[in-house]
Amino acid sequence: PTDSPADPLAGLNAEQRQAVEHGGGKIAGPLLIIAGAGTGKTNTLAHRVANLIVAGADPRRILLMTFSRRAAAEMTRRVERIAGEVMGPKATVLTEGLTFAGTFHSIGARLLREYAPAVGLDPNFSIHDREDSADLMNLVRHELGLSQSATRFPKKNTCLQIYSRTVNAEAELQAVLDKHFPWCAGFAEELKALFGAYVAAKQAENVLDYDDLLLWWGEMCAEPALAEEIGGRFDHVLVDEYQDTNRLQARILTRLKPDGRGVTVVGDDAQSIYGFRAAEVRNILDFPDLFSPRADIVTLDRNYRSTDAILEAANAVIAEAPERFTKNLWSSRTSLAKPRIVTVKDDAGQADFVCESVLAAHEEGTALKHQAVLFRASHHSGALEIELTRRNIPFVKFGGLKFLDAAHVKDVLAVLRLAENPRDRVAAFRAFQLLPGIGPTSAGAALEAMGQLEDPALGLQLFRPPKRAQADWPAFAELFSRLRAKPGWPADLEAVRLWYEPHLERLHEDARMRRADLSQLEQIAGNYPSRERFLTDLTLDPPSATSDEAGPPLLDEDFLILSTIHSAKGQEWSNVFVLNAVDGCIPSDLAVGERDDIEEERRLLYVAMTRAKDSLALITPQRFYVQGQRGDRHVYASRTRFIPEGILGRFEQGAWPRAETAGETAPRGAVRVDLKGRMRGMWG
Ligand code: ATP
Ligand code: MG
Repeated sequence: PTDSPADPLAGLNAEQRQAVEHGGGKIAGPLLIIAGAGTGKTNTLAHRVANLIVAGADPRRILLMTFSRRAAAEMTRRVERIAGEVMGPKATVLTEGLTFAGTFHSIGARLLREYAPAVGLDPNFSIHDREDSADLMNLVRHELGLSQSATRFPKKNTCLQIYSRTVNAEAELQAVLDKHFPWCAGFAEELKALFGAYVAAKQAENVLDYDDLLLWWGEMCAEPALAEEIGGRFDHVLVDEYQDTNRLQARILTRLKPDGRGVTVVGDDAQSIYGFRAAEVRNILDFPDLFSPRADIVTLDRNYRSTDAILEAANAVIAEAPERFTKNLWSSRTSLAKPRIVTVKDDAGQADFVCESVLAAHEEGTALKHQAVLFRASHHSGALEIELTRRNIPFVKFGGLKFLDAAHVKDVLAVLRLAENPRDRVAAFRAFQLLPGIGPTSAGAALEAMGQLEDPALGLQLFRPPKRAQADWPAFAELFSRLRAKPGWPADLEAVRLWYEPHLERLHEDARMRRADLSQLEQIAGNYPSRERFLTDLTLDPPSATSDEAGPPLLDEDFLILSTIHSAKGQEWSNVFVLNAVDGCIPSDLAVGERDDIEEERRLLYVAMTRAKDSLALITPQRFYVQGQRGDRHVYASRTRFIPEGILGRFEQGAWPRAETAGETAPRGAVRVDLKGRMRGMWG
C-alpha cells in the first residue's frame, strides 16, 4: 500500500491502453475494439468505463450493454474495483450511478416504460417470454382456423421462430421462409395474416414480446425528437460482444448516436454464434464505415487467458474456416500439455471420465468452480448430471431449461402478471385455470367479465363461475383485488404463494420440491424494489436452473460449472471439458446443410475451446444418443469434422478408460447382481 493513487492502467499493454484512453476521458469519436478470444476486450471495456468515471464522466449518462445480466453485474463490479484503486470509496458511490447497464432487451424495456405515453403504449405493459409468446401465437392461430387445416401448417413454436427471425433480421417474410424454413415456404400468405393478427392481439392485450422490446425501441428512435432526447441522455454508449447483435440492435445504436460520438463497441467476428437468432456478423465488420468520420479501430493479438498449446489448437480450428478472420493470437503462457481428445465408449463413459478428471484436479488444488463442462445443447448433460449427483459432486447449470420454466413458478408469476396487466390473456388463462372447474371456456368468460367493468377486480368478483369452481372463486377474486388495490413488494408474492399452496398440492405430486422453488423465488424477490422490476427482470433474463432442491449454491460454496456453449460466452475457467465433440453434435445434426450454419458451428467449437486457461479436453463418445423425431436412438459417431487429420497433431489423443484397464474383466464369480430387485424396480 502506497499513499499515491495506483495507476489502474499499469497492467495493460499498449493497445489496450490506447483503447482505454481513446478521447482522454472526454466524449470522443466512435471506437471499435475487434480482437480474438481472451485478448482482454471485456477487461479493457471495464477499464475504459472506470477511466471515464475517474475523469469526471457522469455514470448516470453512461449506457453499457452486455450479453447477459450476469455480465453486466460483473462488469459493474470490475469498474468499481478499478475506479476504487484511484478514488477510494467514492468510486462505489459513483458506480452505483451506473444504472443503465444491462442487456439491449432490459434497457429497451426500461426506456419503453418511461416513454410509453409518447409512443402510445400503456406503461403497465407486460413482457412475454418465448413460451408465453408461443402460447399467444397459438391462440391466434386457433382463432384464424389455421391449426385445423389438414395442410400441415407450422406449429406454434415454428411460427414464432419465423416471426422472430423476420423481425430481427429486418427481412422479407418470403425470403426468410425460402432460406431458413423452406418446408413452410408455401404458407407465406397465411403466415402474414397470422402475424398481423398476432401483432393486433399483443396490442389489444398490452403485451410486448422479446422482439418488441427492440422493435419498439428502434421505432421510437426513428422519431427524430425522441431519438435526440433519448440519445441526449447518454454521453457514452458502450457495447460488449457486438458480433452477436442483430440489425435491429445496430439500428438502435445508430439512431441513438447518429454521428457515433461516445460510442465504443467491442467484439470478435470469429465468435459470432447467434446467427440462428438473426445476429449479423456484418454489424461488427461494417461498424467502422457506419459513421463519418470513420471509427478508430484497435486490435489486440495477445491472449492472456490460455496456454500457448490450447491457443494453437483453437487457432488451427478457426483457421480452417473459409472466412478470413485476421487474428493471429499468441500467448506467453507456455505449456507442454496439449489439449486432449479423449475417446470414450458412450454417454456413461463420458460422465465417468468427467467425474474422475474433475475429482483428480480437485485433489490437486483446482476448485470445482474453476472447472467447467460445456455442451452444445442443454439435454446433453443428462447422464453427467445423474453421475455427479450419485457421487455427491455439487454443480450448477447455466443455459437451457430455466427455473422460471417450471410450471409452478409460472403459475405464481401468472397471477402477479395478471394483477400488473389485467389484459394479458396468456397470463389470465393460466391463472384462472389453476382453479378446479375452470377450463378454457370459463376462463374466456371470466376474462370478458373482467374487461367489461372499469375496475377489473370488481368484474372478477361479480363473475359467476361454473358450479365446481364456486367454492374457490371468492378467494381468488379477493386475492386479485388485494394485488390491484395496494401493491406491496415482496408481500404480494407471499400472498400469492399462500393462496396457491392448496392448489399446488392438488396440481402437482412432488409438491415438496416445488415448494422449495417457491421459497427461493421469494428470496430472489427480496432483492427487487418493486413488483414490476421483478417481473421484468425475471422474464428477460431468468436465473438458471437450480442444481438441487436446496436452491442454487451460495457464492462462496464450491461447485462445478455446467453450461451450454452459448451461455459460456465471455467466461473462462482453468479446466474445460467439451462434451460430444463429434459430428452430429458439433456440428449439430440440425445445422447440417446450409454452409453458414455449419460455419457457425465451427465458431461455436472455437468459443468452447477458448474458454480454457490451463487444461482442455474434448470428449468423443463412439456412440451417442440422439433425440429425434423417430424416437431416441444411439448412433455411431466420429470425431468432429472441425478437427481434421491435418490439425490432429495439435492434440494429444487418448481413450477412457485407458486401454490397459479397458480389456480387464473381473474374475468369474466375483460379480453379484441383484436381478430380482432390478425386476421389481422396473415397476415400482
Ligand atoms: P472473450 O473474447 O472470451 O470475451 P476477452 O477478449 O473479453 O475474451 P477478457 O475476458 O477481458 O478477454 O480477458 C481474458 C483474461 O485475460 C482475463 O483473465 C483478464 O483478466 C486477462 N487479461 C486481460 N488483459 C490483461 C493484461 N494486460 N495483463 C494480464 N492479464 C490480462
Ligand atoms: Mg469478453
